[in-house]
Amino acid sequence: VRGVDIMRDPILNKAMAFTLQERQLLGIHGLLPPALLDQDQQVYQVMQNFYRWSNDLDRYIFMMGLQDRCEKLFYRVVTENIDLMMPVIYTPTVGLACQKFGMVFRKPRGLYITIHDLGHVYDILCNWPVDEVKAIVVTDGERILGLGDLGAYGMGIPIGKLSLYTACAGVQPHHCLPIMIDVGTNNEAIRNDPVYIGLRQKRVTGEQYDQLIEEFMKAVVKRFGKNCLIQFEDFGNHNAFRLLERYRHKYCTFNDDIQGTAAVAVAGILASIKITKVPLKDNVFVFQGAGEASIGIAKLLIKAIMKSGRSEKDAFKQIWMVDSKGLIVKDRPKGGVTGEKVEFAKEHKPIDSLEDIISQIKPTAIIGAAAIPGAFNEKILKTMGQLNKQPIIFALSNPTSKAECTAEQAYTATEGRAVFASGSPFKEVTYNGKTFHPGQGNNAYIFPGVALAVIAADIRDITEDIFLASAESLSEMVTQDHLNQGRVYPPLQDIRTVSLRLARELVVFAYDQGLAHKYPRPKDVSKFLQEFVYETDYDSYVPALYDWPEYTSQPK
Ligand code: NAP
Ligand code: MN
Repeated sequence: VRGVDIMRDPILNKAMAFTLQERQLLGIHGLLPPALLDQDQQVYQVMQNFYRWSNDLDRYIFMMGLQDRCEKLFYRVVTENIDLMMPVIYTPTVGLACQKFGMVFRKPRGLYITIHDLGHVYDILCNWPVDEVKAIVVTDGERILGLGDLGAYGMGIPIGKLSLYTACAGVQPHHCLPIMIDVGTNNEAIRNDPVYIGLRQKRVTGEQYDQLIEEFMKAVVKRFGKNCLIQFEDFGNHNAFRLLERYRHKYCTFNDDIQGTAAVAVAGILASIKITKVPLKDNVFVFQGAGEASIGIAKLLIKAIMKSGRSEKDAFKQIWMVDSKGLIVKDRPKGGVTGEKVEFAKEHKPIDSLEDIISQIKPTAIIGAAAIPGAFNEKILKTMGQLNKQPIIFALSNPTSKAECTAEQAYTATEGRAVFASGSPFKEVTYNGKTFHPGQGNNAYIFPGVALAVIAADIRDITEDIFLASAESLSEMVTQDHLNQGRVYPPLQDIRTVSLRLARELVVFAYDQGLAHKYPRPKDVSKFLQEFVYETDYDSYVPALYDWPEYTSQPK
């Protein structure tokens, strides 16, 4: 590429950082103002703009614009300021951006495949200009965060997630592909939104839906190879579990809402018990919600409890679940105990209200993932404080507006004794002179590192053991210092180091377990991974020039 096109290509563009020589060589001299701004100066300029906006949605639009203009600069800024950027390019702001995606939409990114493209999915994948895709994040928009069905507006999520693949773990942006599978939306308000970007029809379900997904999976393998990672994201509950079961051992795939959430939450629990000093096998967990998040966490937690020395049967006894119909018990008169919930159903009388459940079951930990805001009311928090010296309170529902309680509510109701974590970020809380840093059980601690390990070591089957290893590894990165501040996760600004260390440990684990297919096994794993990691420094477009000795051009 030469000439003005190089400035229009976000992957190649350096904006005002093109050197005088480059401007001349590339034929763009005069197309830029005369000054040269190096990347540091550009970062300063971006940050000044970032702060100037008065709300996060505007900041989101601004940052997406930057990603469309100058990719290296975008990732440099995001990587360096990850704790500031994460809530803007990911939850909670990305939720708002999805709800208003028609307004936010500037430039297309990724692929859109619709139900009417049945039979042509491979052709669409062939329209993607890059052959070397190694990771796909795909959604059908049916359950975006805790916001429900947003149809094609859900595309903001795969885009945001993949940005974090790069920002957190250094996965190459050109290896990443966000995909929206549009089968319609049952959200009437969105269907009638004059600027809606998707199909204006109700969701297609059943056989036709399954056919499309099946064709999609096969087409990905045909186009990008069988080691292309396919991350399922924000699918409706029913499809999420079904598709995971169907594809998990046949394709290189995982579902972040189930498995990524599980790993990050179990990591938080493993760190929490270092504070409460109650051994894992003596904890009792009540889950508010029995959906993708809760079931995923509970299943991985069972594995962790078993590792701590309990039988499977006894491990199940430690976990109680609550869904929209109350405590999950056998032969519940209100019914509805099916599918994944069945094995968690207890021999117990039915209880409807969460308050009664907590006071009767007497848990050491409550974990909220039902997207019911305020579900952990003052009474419940106080009860937890009476039952436990240090109750574990995880309010995981996203975005912030859906949280079961705020950090402040949790600390206040328990006189500062709660071990608290949430799905969306909360600011630190000072209670009685002590400052707590509530942990954010952000899946971003897990999925980017997992993805880097999968891509680098060519892991084909992403087993539950990989997620348990991820949880353990993450929990071990929480230092005593962090625990003293009430943190059950490392600080978000360390997420880059965390992700790379996680990837390193997973690569070793995968080779040990015979799950890695890249041969030979690397001796120095850090060096091995470093070769995959994206650099945000600009490349030079000036070739290394050199001369041949003079005699080569002298006539004899
Ligand atoms: P989901 O699969 O739709 O599950 C929601 C669950 O909540 C269902 O089991 C539902 O019950 C239950 N529920 C609904 N109303 C209830 C009520 N009044 N009382 C008790 N339970 C009720 O959704 P999900 O994927 O699990 O996600 C749930 C929330 O967790 C979302 O806000 C999401 O953003 C959040 N989340 C957070 C993280 C994180 O922090 N890292 C990760 C993933 C998800 P029925 O089964 O009876 O319908
Ligand atoms: Mn999700």
